[in-house]
Amino acid sequence: METGGASTPPPSRELPRIRRLEESVVNRIAAGEVIQRPVSAVKELVENSLDAGATSINVIVKDGGLKLIQVSDDGHGIRYEDLPILCERHTTSKLSTFEDLQSIRTMGFRGEALASITYVAHVTVTTITKGQLHGYRTSYRDGAMEQEPKACAAVKGTQIMVENLFYNMAARRKMMQNNSQDDHAKIVDLLSRFAIHYEGLSISCRKHGAARPDVHTVAASSKVESIRGVYGPSVAQSLIKVEVSYNDPSSAIFEMNGLISDSSYVAKKTTMVLFINDRLVDCSALKRVIEVVYAATLPKASKPFVYMAIKLPPEHVDVNVHPTKREVSLLNQEVILGQIQSAIEGKLRNCNEAMTFEEQTVGPSASPLVAANTRDYPSPLCVGSKLQKTPVQKMVRTDSSVPAGRLHAYMQAKPITDSENMTSLTALRSSVRQRRNPKETADLTSIQELVKEIESNCHSGLLDIVTHCTYVGMADDVYALLQHNTQLYLANVINLSKELMYQQTLRRFAHFNAIQLSEKAPLLDLLLLALKEEDLDMEETDDSLSLRIAEMNTEILKQKAEMLEEYFCIHIDEDGNLCRLPVILDQYTPDMDRVPEFVLTLGNDVDWDNEKSCLQTISAALGNFYALHPPLLPNPVGDGLRYYSERKSVDSSGGSNHRAAKGKDVVMEDKIDHELLLEAETAWAQREWSIQHILFPSMRLFLKPPTSMATNGTFVQVASLEKLYKIFERC
Ligand code: ADP
Ligand code: MG
Repeated sequence: METGGASTPPPSRELPRIRRLEESVVNRIAAGEVIQRPVSAVKELVENSLDAGATSINVIVKDGGLKLIQVSDDGHGIRYEDLPILCERHTTSKLSTFEDLQSIRTMGFRGEALASITYVAHVTVTTITKGQLHGYRTSYRDGAMEQEPKACAAVKGTQIMVENLFYNMAARRKMMQNNSQDDHAKIVDLLSRFAIHYEGLSISCRKHGAARPDVHTVAASSKVESIRGVYGPSVAQSLIKVEVSYNDPSSAIFEMNGLISDSSYVAKKTTMVLFINDRLVDCSALKRVIEVVYAATLPKASKPFVYMAIKLPPEHVDVNVHPTKREVSLLNQEVILGQIQSAIEGKLRNCNEAMTFEEQTVGPSASPLVAANTRDYPSPLCVGSKLQKTPVQKMVRTDSSVPAGRLHAYMQAKPITDSENMTSLTALRSSVRQRRNPKETADLTSIQELVKEIESNCHSGLLDIVTHCTYVGMADDVYALLQHNTQLYLANVINLSKELMYQQTLRRFAHFNAIQLSEKAPLLDLLLLALKEEDLDMEETDDSLSLRIAEMNTEILKQKAEMLEEYFCIHIDEDGNLCRLPVILDQYTPDMDRVPEFVLTLGNDVDWDNEKSCLQTISAALGNFYALHPPLLPNPVGDGLRYYSERKSVDSSGGSNHRAAKGKDVVMEDKIDHELLLEAETAWAQREWSIQHILFPSMRLFLKPPTSMATNGTFVQVASLEKLYKIFERC
């Protein structure tokens, strides 16, 4: 393996060398992704404390967390024997096999957090386990323990001190130094959220040296009490309780308990405190659904305050869609969202009616706490604003920060339960459509033409298959097995996803959300990388030619940056770095290993002179980039496994310092590169998950299969069950 070795001649002046990054640099980048800001480190540490059974957690923060984050808990502590490997990557006490991932209940499980933090900060751990007379203290750097743990006095539990965060990432540190107020506020906000959800937990957070904490809740105060303490009385007074308990094994099983604001609460921004299986997460689809209900039901169309706790079987939540485990996807998401939506709609409507009839009974609002303790909130609490009968479509906010295209997904996916819902939905839908065609969106006629072409080129037979098929599973790396009525088909997932992404790019044109890259990627390097990959097959490589091509393409893309940003949310900064990419399907990020190839396609294959073909080629390039290609690491199932053992035997001569300490026979018995293998397994499992839970549901809603797919091998009919049954009957 090449690691920027000394044996190669020094690079010529004009040619920047592409080198494999040193492992510690790679780790630092990965750490930067998991630990984006100080608040991400706090979240990981607090979750570890909760996993350790803590009932009291105290946090001290200096300079918004950049100088110091100290989290002390009274949990079960860390065993002395575990201290040496505590901060290695993929060390966790919570997971040992891949199958465990399916049933994991704790918050952390990837064993990445502490390791990540040690790559970007100095970490000191003090801990004591039950029954010990004294504790131990030691420190870590770059994934390794720095010295033998020293005995020390300690109180129950663990204290983790993180100092000088991002000390080795100058740019990030500089950027953050001006933001320490903001970071502190984010940390306080995070801890407040935990405080609300965990009633049995006492939690506090203060600035280093400050006498008074910024958050302090005591164990056993009620949720409404905590909300009052943290978000103020006006929020607490406006709360309505919502509950859903749904148990239909054929569609979804879940329980939801929530406290949501009524019409008396006014805010510009939604506050959403969401815990799924006791884990603080985001679910943008759910947030959107709730905002739409508020917009459609309440006259004032204020953004809501929502606290919500959802419990569902752990195997129904996918927390791996996001590097920080923050954004989750749910199995049968549409059903769950639909149920929650109707529940909230019902509550808000009741609340509206109550206002018209009980306007005079303002009295009891003085004692919201009493209400908080009853099973359901009495309606007088909702008194506060007059009800005007406004047609639903007028209540929809025309706020352009909520791109209408995104509503689409849930609108169509949601099972409609009653006729009332139906009317409000139809109204919403039409207003959504109106908003989808305002001037700034699609008045480029070429985009409209391209979208029309998709419609007119759609194959009705295939459309029927795509919208009504059942996904059976992956037959190999490329083909999925589908059942449609009594027919079985093999469908090429790469072709399908490429087309879907292309079509969605055109539909979301100029209305994308952004995926922010954790590190800017210089176009020149990306292009050189891509050219090098291409050249691998060729006999001779001309480095200076590659460099010229790369420079030329960088220049072109820099010139087109404004247009790429405005229409496609592909952000390239003045220095020629790629910084942002568009969200084409919600909750889906493309395989970043394919960025170089994508950038090269943009540079080489786009026809910049003709508007229509320019937009089309860019969309096609995005389609290809975002398609669900097989991961670049070989599939570790079956023969592919060999790849991982061979690599290891090449590597083992140099590396694995950590293990060497334990004994010389260890290296021998362990020939598989487990880290790489785990990475491959995760990548493949994640892809399969995305195919089932993102690709197929989205295809059902959005894909208009082009006629060419009927003949180009995208769909292959493999069997007709009728015929099979007949055969079986004969047997
Ligand atoms: P994960 O939480 O994914 O397992 P982490 O890197 O966050 O990975 O933590 C690694 C391990 O360190 C945990 O599995 C746990 O055994 C131990 N650990 C971390 N923090 C604490 C704590 N506050 N109390 C007890 N054990 C802890
Ligand atoms: Mg953890």
